Amino acid sequence: MGRYTGPVCKLCRREGQKLFLKGPKCYTEKCPVDRRTYPPGQHGPAQARRRKQSEYAGQLREKQKLKRVYGLQEKQFRNLFELAVKQPGVTGENLLVNLETRLDNLIFRLGLASSRSQARQVVRHRHVEVNGRVVDIPSYHVRVGDEVAVRAQDLDLFPIQEALAARTRAKVPEWLAFDEKNRVGRVIRTPERQDIPLTVQEQLIVELYSK
Ligand code: SF4
Repeated sequence: MGRYTGPVCKLCRREGQKLFLKGPKCYTEKCPVDRRTYPPGQHGPAQARRRKQSEYAGQLREKQKLKRVYGLQEKQFRNLFELAVKQPGVTGENLLVNLETRLDNLIFRLGLASSRSQARQVVRHRHVEVNGRVVDIPSYHVRVGDEVAVRAQDLDLFPIQEALAARTRAKVPEWLAFDEKNRVGRVIRTPERQDIPLTVQEQLIVELYSK
């Protein structure tokens, strides 16, 4: 199945919370999650009236939510989970760290793009360098010590300028450093669970995939 190209606000409404998939526009536009507090579709209002959801439904919703926040397809997400299982430590946290250290997410976290989908496009269009070499793979995993920057000749592009202008609102996470003068980001350590500002119960996703 291909990438979802429909209205992203529907995805937030389905999860019943703001996932901020439109970047800064989510702060300026009227958010449909506030206006229609039920899932999208013909049966949405009826679903909202149902009081209790099953254990499976709860696990599924957590998985779908995380997948949508990072804009991944099922297979990509599942592959990251399989990787997390093989890594030492807590599987759910490993999964979050694997998602967080994708190159497209890093571009977003550094404030070089206003949303993860825009960050993915910036990477795909070969505007990003890792350690001085162009990398056009959004799923590329950055490591501690890597330096990430938008190519100097591409800094004038409108989406990048727009994101840079809005940077003041974005706070660079503690596991990253950003050189404002040279517009270069650096990974100073591996992120930990408390560095990832997501309200997701990753343990439910582990339970879902462990069935
Ligand atoms: Fe989600 Fe943003 Fe749309 Fe609100 S405006 S529903 S947070 S994408």
